[in-house]
Amino acid sequence: MKPIVDYHMHTFLCGHASGQPHEYIQAAVAAGLEEAGFSDHAPLVSHDDPTLTMSRDQLPQYHHMIEDVRARFDGQIRVRVGIEADFLEGCENKTREILDGYAYDYVIGSVHYIENWGFDDPKEVEKWKQADVDQVYRQYYLYLRKSAQSGLFDIMGHVDLVKKFGHRPSQTLFEEIKKTADTFKDAGVAIEINTSGLRKPAKEMYPALEDLKIYCERGVPFTFGSDAHQPQEVGMDFDKAAALAKEAGYQEYVLFENREICQKVKL
Ligand code: ZN
Ligand code: FE
Ligand code: FE
Ligand code: ZN
Repeated sequence: MKPIVDYHMHTFLCGHASGQPHEYIQAAVAAGLEEAGFSDHAPLVSHDDPTLTMSRDQLPQYHHMIEDVRARFDGQIRVRVGIEADFLEGCENKTREILDGYAYDYVIGSVHYIENWGFDDPKEVEKWKQADVDQVYRQYYLYLRKSAQSGLFDIMGHVDLVKKFGHRPSQTLFEEIKKTADTFKDAGVAIEINTSGLRKPAKEMYPALEDLKIYCERGVPFTFGSDAHQPQEVGMDFDKAAALAKEAGYQEYVLFENREICQKVKL
């Protein structure tokens, strides 16, 4: 069965996505989805960058747009309101304050920064040249664990994003991933199978099959996201994502409402 949900869709408010919210929902309906959720980039609490996230002033507009589109497609598809927030160590209270400002069906927690380096930002890709790749990977997984333990998030986003530009560690870091999966399980967070990695130099989904097997073994629930930054990416490669989940051993995925798992759906 094809997945019925896409929880990872952006809006033009982040400054690097295109299309109107109703076009994303139209695309979701056309793809046969029963549920779709927006999870645009939450305002950065460390610094402002209009090419990366909405500003705090734009949060009301974000919520209005989703309310409008939800009403407009009532009876055709369930529209969920989520958000993708950065994990920034030391800024947890500011992040919490932003997330507490509105009701969400789910919050995706993403590590896009290692210390102050936006390691997945094309504007900062040069810094990989000086980086110790193994060390970056280890730090990345450490931050993933800290994000889960922060209690700020419900779903951990693209949990091996560090591979985005194709940098690979000298050996697979299974002990890091096992530790991370145990932490996720204890913290009660889910993960997503995010198909956008297929469209990046990494040319694989986030996370890779071998990692996904570990998350499955540890009993970490998962859901689906395309990380659409344009309407035509909604639900992209979801047949492949479902096949990957099955191959990893999963039999079901989860849906969210009011920041809790509200339903399990058979794969
Ligand atoms: Zn983005
Ligand atoms: Fe992200
Ligand atoms: Fe995203
Ligand atoms: Zn993302």
